[in-house]
Amino acid sequence: MAGGWARDGAVSEQIEASISDELARMKQRRAPQGESLTHCAECEEPIPEKRRLALPGVKLCIDCQQERDGAFQARAGINRRGSKDSQLK
Ligand SMILES: [Zn+2]
Repeated sequence: MAGGWARDGAVSEQIEASISDELARMKQRRAPQGESLTHCAECEEPIPEKRRLALPGVKLCIDCQQERDGAFQARAGINRRGSKDSQLK
């Protein structure tokens, strides 16, 4: 029966949702990688206490984190451009 199917689907969706909730909670519990550093691991600048409280286990100052994020984005852009070039050739 169609009604039975719909109900079964809803139940398994709920179970899946609660499992992924549980996994997310477990990840969050595991997430803090040790103590927040008081000084940046890259440049040894002091990390503001607000930042350390906001990001438990933080290892980089804002500048170094942004530099690292920017480097990732730049590399992704180059890759995307590269694959487009190879498609044109
Ligand atoms: Zn830094």
